[in-house]
Amino acid sequence: MSDNQLRIVWIYPDLLSTYGDQGNALVVERRARQRGLDVARLDVRSDQPIPTSGDIYLIGGGEDRPQRLAAERLRRDGGLYRAVENGAIVFSVCAGYQILGQEFINDLGQREPGLGLLDVVSTRGEGARCVGDVLGDIDPRLGLPPLTGFENHQGVTHIGPGARPLAQVRFGNGNGTGDGTEGAYNDTVFGTYMHGPVLARNPQIADLLLKLALDVNALPPTDDRWYEALRTERIAAAQQPA
Ligand code: GLN
Repeated sequence: MSDNQLRIVWIYPDLLSTYGDQGNALVVERRARQRGLDVARLDVRSDQPIPTSGDIYLIGGGEDRPQRLAAERLRRDGGLYRAVENGAIVFSVCAGYQILGQEFINDLGQREPGLGLLDVVSTRGEGARCVGDVLGDIDPRLGLPPLTGFENHQGVTHIGPGARPLAQVRFGNGNGTGDGTEGAYNDTVFGTYMHGPVLARNPQIADLLLKLALDVNALPPTDDRWYEALRTERIAAAQQPA
């Protein structure tokens, strides 16, 4: 973080914002402000360059064609690579998660290169689309409470040796590979299939992103009663038979 200002970058709202994932940017921004931080939020459309000096970058889900366009533009732009080289934190959802990986299957049924910032490969699932509430246990190394989210994807994602599963599902599909994993992460780059928006349902993940960006071990507490009420409701929903 430079100039004592936390820079949050929301990538391509015009292409990857169809599932309410913009809420993730709102939650990170709000929780940073609640801790008294000076925050600048930048929404970068797909015809604009990606700034390289951001602290936290957020990417959402999207439909298949906008996903391909976003991948092409992010590869060509190169700014996100440089931001990650500079130590930025990236949090991505669904289509955004697939784009950050090594490759995915695009809307034309072809293998599309991703950005290679996360060691995952996505293919198209042969079975039914994965849709519904998910409940999972986040990697104990991260010390976070259970993961709640909503999934809606055809892609399935395989994790390579350079990344770890973000969570193991108790209910739902997650990565959809049959091994119960959901999402993936390395030191600074995170991916998940969870919508919700996922950071509204899991504010502790938003706080993890803030702690990584600020390089601190703890943040001042916040009043999380609203979040807890939402979590309780959605965790119960995940356990209802479909
Ligand atoms: N098109 C991708 C899939 O179906 C991502 C969908 C999404 O972002 N919800 O796997």
